[in-house]
Amino acid sequence: MRILVSNDDGIHARGLRILVESVKELGEVFVVAPDRERSATGHSITVHRPLRVKKTRIPGIEVESWAVDGTPADCVKLAIEDLLIEPPGLVISGINQGPNLGTDVLYSGTVSAAVEGALNGFPSVAVSLASYCYQDFSQAGAFIQKFIPQLVKTILPQMNVPGNLLLNINIPGTGRPLGVKVTRLGNRRYVNIFEKRVDPRGRIYYWMAGEPLDTEEGAENGCGTDVQAVKDNYISVTPLQLDLTDYASLERLEFLAGPI
Ligand code: MN
Repeated sequence: MRILVSNDDGIHARGLRILVESVKELGEVFVVAPDRERSATGHSITVHRPLRVKKTRIPGIEVESWAVDGTPADCVKLAIEDLLIEPPGLVISGINQGPNLGTDVLYSGTVSAAVEGALNGFPSVAVSLASYCYQDFSQAGAFIQKFIPQLVKTILPQMNVPGNLLLNINIPGTGRPLGVKVTRLGNRRYVNIFEKRVDPRGRIYYWMAGEPLDTEEGAENGCGTDVQAVKDNYISVTPLQLDLTDYASLERLEFLAGPI
């Protein structure tokens, strides 16, 4: 199987190297990733300037790798359209340093790389280590090494359209997760989002940061949220879909339809 690996922390990030090491036994791995950190770029793409691609060697891993001076979505698009000779069987993005939970997936470059894989019809997985300070990716790597073969052998053959598989995985940064929970996306709200400061010339500027608001989230239909699972020290696996249509409102708005 051909596996395309990307990320948003940049091609030289430790998490990417651990991810490649965890999946390289499964087949042929190709890396196409941003040449520098592009976290929180969401699904942005580069259309107002050219994209430059550089064949790169990542020390310690012998896989074909390209660094792109664009976003994670650019990388996956380019890989599929031009850099890979054959299409991938699986796209994996990560392992991100930091959580990608709940509504934050909309801002996440890590998740967007996987979304781009899914948009192109390939099964795709985003993986994040849900901590900014815990630097040990070994637990996350060990989980991926165990989980991806299960995915390929058991889950993908059961799917009518394997390309519809889009998973968001968060691994708690604790060293010893209690287990795995299959979750829905939670709500991620922040407090004190902007720090208002004054620059040396007396002008006000803002720096976006903020603390996640710690809310207890209940289980709906027996399914808890990814936010809660990680808080409870579980690995969270959330299946995502790309159809944003609000089906409940279709009927309510139907009266608007007709000639004008
Ligand atoms: Mn990142």
